[in-house]
Amino acid sequence: MNISCKESGQYRNAVASGRRMRLRLLGGQLDPTRPRYGTDPIVVCGRNLLLVALILVFLSTALAQKPSSHSSRPHASISPEAKALLEEAIGVVCTQAKLDPKSSIAIDEMQARPSLPVQSPEARAGAERAQRLLPLTKSLMIASLQELATEYGFRKSPNFQQRIKQAIARVNSVKRVRPDMDSRDNASVYLSRPHVITFGTIFLAGLRSDEGMISVLAHELMHIADGDNDSLRPLVAAVGNKASDLTGLDIHGQRSEEIACDLIGAMAARAYITSTPGYESIARRLARSIQHNCVELDEGDEDHLSPRSTIRALLALNPELVRELINDREERKLP
Ligand SMILES: [Zn+2]
Repeated sequence: MNISCKESGQYRNAVASGRRMRLRLLGGQLDPTRPRYGTDPIVVCGRNLLLVALILVFLSTALAQKPSSHSSRPHASISPEAKALLEEAIGVVCTQAKLDPKSSIAIDEMQARPSLPVQSPEARAGAERAQRLLPLTKSLMIASLQELATEYGFRKSPNFQQRIKQAIARVNSVKRVRPDMDSRDNASVYLSRPHVITFGTIFLAGLRSDEGMISVLAHELMHIADGDNDSLRPLVAAVGNKASDLTGLDIHGQRSEEIACDLIGAMAARAYITSTPGYESIARRLARSIQHNCVELDEGDEDHLSPRSTIRALLALNPELVRELINDREERKLP
């Protein structure tokens, strides 16, 4: 069984690489005129009031009888203050995308670029960076996975511990990054070749910092950790549920896996930044781990949130990241 980047025409998404080849076949096109989220408002008026009331009673009875898979879990929420900070943090990330010479190129811009030969200087530099950072990223990713499992209350489950152990073994078996011109702005993993991460040359060249590269490598490693049997599914689903609650977006199924991979990527990059202090602004370095999502053309699909919704969900899940992105800016305002 393969894990691969989804390539469904114009909705292909560079970083949020999909899981399986079959998704490629299933990848349909979105109707941009149709709202994807939420429901139509119920309009109550005049003589239809009684009828509507009867329908509402019927619906509420029907809904009450329908078993809900989420009924027992507590629902996460976000305060208006936290929401305002989150928007401010998004501003920092995408402003840095324009100011930072090492910023990651936005996905939509990468998609518009011509293919890049493997031997081009930019692709070679990117491939060397990816290969050099792979061993470190494996350690950072494993630590992030364990941290996430603890945060979501899975560390006490012996069954889940066993799954984590096997996931770590799969991550440790990854040996190589393979640059590929045809993969363009995608990175992907084929479970038939679990020791290799295939990386499009445009993507290799577009991630111009160690922070950006670590984030994407850790994302792909999380797909490998989850493996062919979705062995980390309970954790992945918990992350998706929380992201849905916090954003109001529909983040279930494959979308929850993609956001969990992105979250692990951001956590790994943040751990790297903490362990390698330097002269650069912390916010600038943190921004690199997610700013490939600062697109102009913001489109998602069935399996992936749109890039800008991805940033929003990631920051909602990671308030420390929000705080650090904003605090750094506050400090810089001081004389
Ligand atoms: Zn992915």
